[in-house]
Amino acid sequence: MAYIELNVLNNEPTPVVGIDLGTTNSLVARFHEGRPEVLKPAGHPGHEPSVVYFDEDGTVRVGHDARNHAIADPGRAIFSFKRFLGRGLDDVRSDLAGVPFDATENEHGVLAFDTPAGKLTPQQLSARILKQISHVAGEALGNHAPLSAVITVPAYFDDAQRAATRDAASIAGVEVVRIINEPTAASLAYGIDQKDEKEGGRTVAVYDFGGGTFDVTVLLIEGGVFRVLATNGDTHLGGDDLDRCLVELARTELRESGQLTDEAASDATLRQAMRLAAERCKHELTTQTSSELHVSMPELGLNWRRTIGRAEFEQLIEPVLLRTLTACRGALADAKLTPADIDEVVLVGGSTRIPAVQRLVEAYFERTPHTGLDPDKVVALGAAVQAHVLAGGTRDILLMDVTPLSLGLETMGGATSKVIPRNSPIPCSHTEGFTTYADNQTGIEFNILQGERELAKDCRSLGQFKLTGIPPMAAGAPKVAVRFALDANGMLTVTAKEETTGQMAEIAVEPMNSLSDEELEQMLLDSYENAEADFDASRLAGLKTEIGTMTKACERSLASAESVLDPETILDIQDALAAANAAAATDDLDLVQRTRDELERATLPLAAALMDSVAKQALAGKTLGEV
Ligand code: ADP
Ligand code: MG
Repeated sequence: MAYIELNVLNNEPTPVVGIDLGTTNSLVARFHEGRPEVLKPAGHPGHEPSVVYFDEDGTVRVGHDARNHAIADPGRAIFSFKRFLGRGLDDVRSDLAGVPFDATENEHGVLAFDTPAGKLTPQQLSARILKQISHVAGEALGNHAPLSAVITVPAYFDDAQRAATRDAASIAGVEVVRIINEPTAASLAYGIDQKDEKEGGRTVAVYDFGGGTFDVTVLLIEGGVFRVLATNGDTHLGGDDLDRCLVELARTELRESGQLTDEAASDATLRQAMRLAAERCKHELTTQTSSELHVSMPELGLNWRRTIGRAEFEQLIEPVLLRTLTACRGALADAKLTPADIDEVVLVGGSTRIPAVQRLVEAYFERTPHTGLDPDKVVALGAAVQAHVLAGGTRDILLMDVTPLSLGLETMGGATSKVIPRNSPIPCSHTEGFTTYADNQTGIEFNILQGERELAKDCRSLGQFKLTGIPPMAAGAPKVAVRFALDANGMLTVTAKEETTGQMAEIAVEPMNSLSDEELEQMLLDSYENAEADFDASRLAGLKTEIGTMTKACERSLASAESVLDPETILDIQDALAAANAAAATDDLDLVQRTRDELERATLPLAAALMDSVAKQALAGKTLGEV
């Protein structure tokens, strides 16, 4: 017989949650319906920056609010105070330089900062963040009862640092159920402790590359018990250093071009603006192959932009990334292991989203790391799992099922468009918008694909279906929403709906069951090996489609523009059209790219003339529909 505990005082069960109190970001998660989830009220991103900001009148701002204020006035904010928890003045002297307030030590060796809100210890600052986190949890749960929590700390934290974390929680009114190591939490999130017993235990390397710190921990998991074999790292190595690489590049080039005077260079607001621009650019380079680094400070007469390719970025950050490997070597040496002895590799920390970091880790450990969960959420998720277990819950229904391969659609030119990326937890659903390629196209054929490759012919086709009955419209006008829904049994239902008419078509297919582990591994290997060639092929397909669309648009409008364009311009457009279409018949990427760009240039006057005539008609009082 099971007993359920009731809190008779307020009839509200106190939620037991997991909290990742991070150096850069903090977040809270709970275990719900068989899996851990990050708590976020509607419209909230789920994390709070670990930042505290002080207004002149002593008002204290925390989290997002603090970070936003710190952009304009970094001199009133404290960042990264986790570094000071449980440490004395002498331990952290160099870090104190980054804090805009004086620090003193009391008779018990506890640091305190002289802030506009009075003397505040790192414990009190952390408590502010924990309070904010409790508030976020309360909003999400619709229940502001005091929290009981499992809180995580780095594996290298000593007793004093752990005790200081407990103190922070008690100041914030959060009951600490247990303090656990961040790498242990990450392994729990992936359920590695639940895997079949392995003779001698399972060794896990947890590579945690966050905002301001890097650490790698080797764990031995045996019979559900986690043991830290070794931990190594650098408390001054993180995503901030990658931002700094881009800031340095910007400063060097701005100086060389004479735009950055010594006076401007020391401007704190400019430094902060550059840092933010760098971080934005870095984030974009995680998903895109190029991005723009843009620094704008009109007050200083500065407006500078520069395109950065992913390859250039990877070269810039290589020295920083290599320093993480030094720590990995150290940890393995301490654990008396070689990379081949490691059974599992887990990625933690926002910076491990960077493709170059993932490649580096994979190459070093010769093993594909776990990437199925969001690396900056995985610690909080694991803490929630631990909280659930400590509260007497079981994990039998803990589903960590993810889609092994991406699911998507074939698009024009034989390219693929991924709708549900690989490693998405199931069940899940996602909707993407598509449109027609040709004028008056009344039907669309959908080819559903599974795989990582960029071209449809290299992926596995799961099935085809047609959406018909689209009313004749210009190319690009119909709006077709395609929804991919993958249920818990792995059944995929694809629905296409044309929004103006409501015309619908649907297909259900079973994606994964037919793939063996070997086939799956081979498909992934192929995609890694062919990544570069695939990228070119997909770009080629995209450019050819663009040339097709531009040609059609020219054919439509050239005749009507003949009266306003001079014959030379028209000849120029016709030449460019011929060259682009000839190039589109080849597979010469450079040539196709060049002729497409040339076509764009040649058609600029045509576009301008069209805009002009549209404007004139509007001025003459005609509505566009009558033209
Ligand atoms: P911490 O554990 O130190 O609190 P996080 O795990 O939240 O930190 O990581 C924060 C770092 O991750 C920041 O440097 C941030 O710029 C970086 N980061 C977050 N998302 C991305 C991304 N998409 N690409 C590259 N870096 C990212
Ligand atoms: Mg972290």
